[in-house]
Amino acid sequence: MLEDKNQKKTSIASLGEFGLINHLTKHFKISKESTLKSIGDDAAVLDFKDKKAVVSTDLLIEGVHFDLAYMPLKHLGYKAVVANISDICAMNATPTQITVSVAVSNRFPLEALEELFEGITLAANAYEVDVIGGDTTSSQKGLIISITAIGEANLDDIAYRNGANQTDLLVVSGDLGAAYMGLQVLEREKQVFQVNPNNQPVLDDYTYLIERQLKPEARTDVKGILEQLEIQPTAMIDISDGLSSEIMHICKQSQLGCNLYEEKIPVDPQLINTCEEFNIDITTIALNGGEDYELLFTIKMEDFEKIKGNPNFTVIGHMVAESEGIHLVTRANTKIELKARGWNALSEEE
Ligand code: ADP
Ligand code: MG
Repeated sequence: MLEDKNQKKTSIASLGEFGLINHLTKHFKISKESTLKSIGDDAAVLDFKDKKAVVSTDLLIEGVHFDLAYMPLKHLGYKAVVANISDICAMNATPTQITVSVAVSNRFPLEALEELFEGITLAANAYEVDVIGGDTTSSQKGLIISITAIGEANLDDIAYRNGANQTDLLVVSGDLGAAYMGLQVLEREKQVFQVNPNNQPVLDDYTYLIERQLKPEARTDVKGILEQLEIQPTAMIDISDGLSSEIMHICKQSQLGCNLYEEKIPVDPQLINTCEEFNIDITTIALNGGEDYELLFTIKMEDFEKIKGNPNFTVIGHMVAESEGIHLVTRANTKIELKARGWNALSEEE
């Protein structure tokens, strides 16, 4: 995982710009009815008929958002698509198309870009989105990726961050904190490897955490599950920056407060074991670790019976009036004010 797999090195310049674009994009298949024109002209043309179009974009900079020392390029391509698809899911919409733009320095051979686009192709196929365009250019230093995701939804289905109501329940999909701890494990192994390259990392105890970091999945299934349960989420957001900060977004935009119950926060057993090993507080990680790509949403209180016991979801709290504030109710039943980032366990209220 840590060594350079790119034995063959073809310079990008040798293909020319159009040769490169053709080479990288030739594997993309078009399957969506809404895609009228994709790669090959000045712009793509889409037709959503009676649906609304939902658009989201992200920029990823090497050294800021990813480190190629422990993020293989194929995984990076996959994850970059997932992160954008997740934003479409967070509107309670269905992803349909993406555009992919890359800037690379001459440090990257063609084989590296092929690996990146292999991951992008895998994700585009897995999530059934058409790649309809992008831009390819050079950078002075490092790799830059920008993906734009497009989706469709019926107007009535779209869930905004500002739609929560007082007494609504706060619900989360999946479990939290694993992606962040996966990164901690990978960073530790990188340091061990740098000290002694003969030390092969033993990662068996951390497979779930590392998978959550290197190959996260977007919750495209949640929209359908909620429809089957006959639940319309009142507000929704994806958990890319950590539970705590996403709860704050819903509260601020909906002009509400909330009580979040520590004992309800869903975590995987592997996270518990690894946090103990690293001597890190599990709740701190679940609250502030990012990149889980789960969905956080609110539902009406009367929908509780429909969602109760569903293995995909956990009710973790409820909304209250804005004047009551945003709190974590700990296992010891003390109330701690939630902070956007870095939650300070010392700032306890009674
Ligand atoms: P322009 O000169 O209008 O920027 P380009 O020559 O850059 O057009 O791109 C030609 C076509 O290839 C366009 O349809 C563009 O969207 C597509 N394209 C360029 N780079 C990428 C990429 N990295 N991924 C997908 N499509 C791309
Ligand atoms: Mg261009």
